[in-house]
Amino acid sequence: MITRELVLHEVGPRDGLQFEEQTVPTEQKLKWIHGLLECGLDIVQVGSFVHPARVPQMADADLLFSELKNHRSKHSNVTLSGLVLNEKGLERGLACGVDMFCMGVSASETHSRKNTGMSIAEASGRIIAMADQAEREKKKVQVSVQSAFGCGYEGEISMDRVLGLVGKFLEAGHKTISLADTAGHATPDKVEKLFNAVASLDSEAEWACHFHNTYGLALANCYAAYQMGVRYFESSFAGLGGCPFTKIAGGNVCTEDLVHMLQRMNVRKEVNLGKLIEIARDVGRFFGRDMAGYVHKSGPIPEFG
Ligand code: MG
Repeated sequence: MITRELVLHEVGPRDGLQFEEQTVPTEQKLKWIHGLLECGLDIVQVGSFVHPARVPQMADADLLFSELKNHRSKHSNVTLSGLVLNEKGLERGLACGVDMFCMGVSASETHSRKNTGMSIAEASGRIIAMADQAEREKKKVQVSVQSAFGCGYEGEISMDRVLGLVGKFLEAGHKTISLADTAGHATPDKVEKLFNAVASLDSEAEWACHFHNTYGLALANCYAAYQMGVRYFESSFAGLGGCPFTKIAGGNVCTEDLVHMLQRMNVRKEVNLGKLIEIARDVGRFFGRDMAGYVHKSGPIPEFG
């Protein structure tokens, strides 16, 4: 159920940092995450519970959650989310106090096998069972369809396949559903078409979008989703991101650019854009390169008059 004007889910500490060659020290991650918590975002995805040998950048996920839980009082209204791919990850996440579990199934057979070693059919069965378990443990759950708008290996993904997966989630009672454009193939017209189709399946569901900027279309896609009534956006600070198990992946839509656009539309004006920009600049200094995104370079459009 949508109870907020619009939900901002910051996924950079997970989707962003997992993609960097350099593993960011835990202390530095904590500094950025604490900064993000202060900006007024709704959900921050702290990390993923995957095998540390496979994604060493996420090896400190448990430690991060424990640390953040210990210093919770100031930001008790912010939900801390974690991504899980299997039962072992769910167990770890439950042990260290994750508030919200995110888990997904790819609509591309090739991406599913590369990302999880499972077919779509096998992955969807397991993910739904895990989502059920997380709910029994009184956790929030967000399920997603990855590669919903196209795949770097397979190209076009049929809408029927996406709708089939969404239907399975709905049938199982999981109604916070994100459609993820893992490869960045979405275009605004496709975004309209797909969100229009899923909305007709269930009027109670909460639809989220997750766009990557591989071809420079992420912000345009966010606007298209907004126009279709989507009020739940996933983005990465400094435009970090990409899936290590997809073919070519650009960063996520950049949080500060998204917030800037929304604020120009008079939405979520209370979010601290200045602080988001500061953090993005700090990320650029840390990695020693120009980060994606525009507003951290230009600053926001000035107020005139
Ligand atoms: Mg992603």
